[in-house]
Amino acid sequence: MRIPRGQIEQLDEPLLWQGRIRDLGINDLGDPETPLSAELDASPEQGGIRLRGSLRGNLTLICDRCLGPLELAVDGAVNVLLLPEGAVDEAGPETGPRETGLIELPPHGGSIDLMAPLREALYLELPQRLLCRRDCKGLCPVCGQNWNAGDCDCVAEPGDDRWAPLQKLKKKLEQA
Ligand SMILES: [Zn+2]
Ligand SMILES: [Zn+2]
Repeated sequence: MRIPRGQIEQLDEPLLWQGRIRDLGINDLGDPETPLSAELDASPEQGGIRLRGSLRGNLTLICDRCLGPLELAVDGAVNVLLLPEGAVDEAGPETGPRETGLIELPPHGGSIDLMAPLREALYLELPQRLLCRRDCKGLCPVCGQNWNAGDCDCVAEPGDDRWAPLQKLKKKLEQA
């Protein structure tokens, strides 16, 4: 997504962007047509412009454990500092961990690509494990039954150590 510099310099109006996940170059996060919206406020800072706001969308993803659908409401923080040419290097990584979103201001009449900071805002919102619910029971590794819908006949009987290796594997997979 490219935004003309002139539009960003109109500081009194928030910047509104409506797009789709695929506009951020992402094709592996549910339906690439999923709508997203961003609202950013611009304010002058260090001779450049600070853009701050949020990226929102409702994603439908796949549960890591049971492969069922998983609804995820995303509300990611966007924080970008647009600095004049040459100032980006000086501001560098020294300015602190939150200053990852440094972008060079293009010349007047140019446009600014905000794809990278929006992608980052989205990825930071994703939990490490995608689960349809915190206690999702997953699928039986033997028969494929969705344990959220009920147990299957494969469940080990207490003391039946034929299942011990499988239980161990299951634990390992759950910790991974
Ligand atoms: Zn699940
Ligand atoms: Zn089973």
